[in-house]
Amino acid sequence: MTQQVEAVLEELKGRGHRMTPQRRAIVAEVLGSHGHISPQQIAGGLAETVPGMNVSTVYRTLELLEELGVVSHTHLGSGAEYHLADDRDHAHLVCASCHRWFSETVDKLGDVSEALRDATGFTPDLTHYAISGLCRQCATKS
Ligand SMILES: [Zn+2]
Ligand SMILES: [Zn+2]
Ligand SMILES: [Zn+2]
Repeated sequence: MTQQVEAVLEELKGRGHRMTPQRRAIVAEVLGSHGHISPQQIAGGLAETVPGMNVSTVYRTLELLEELGVVSHTHLGSGAEYHLADDRDHAHLVCASCHRWFSETVDKLGDVSEALRDATGFTPDLTHYAISGLCRQCATKS
């Protein structure tokens, strides 16, 4: 883990990015995370121990990490959201009524991709943007 953090920091340095204590802390936090990486949560969690931490620094660092292929982003209704690059194979379904969101594996949505491709010739990336709609509960209510 620590080794991986150092390797990523070295690569960023090699690309001419200045390594501040804030950036180091963010990189370590991101590499140690699982599932969804919320920039707000990272900034909030580190604010107590790392002076000068704020959300825009977290966003900028995540962008750099994305250039290295360490993380990738998707768009939920509330803004960009990040995953470690090997954990991106799921779609996000956002309910337009209760605003909860759910993740669904891409395997399960294979038929949807295929139907779109057959009908339009377009190959969709269902993981990049959240799919808006109604969750089971809200759909039953209305
Ligand atoms: Zn996700
Ligand atoms: Zn995007
Ligand atoms: Zn709902």
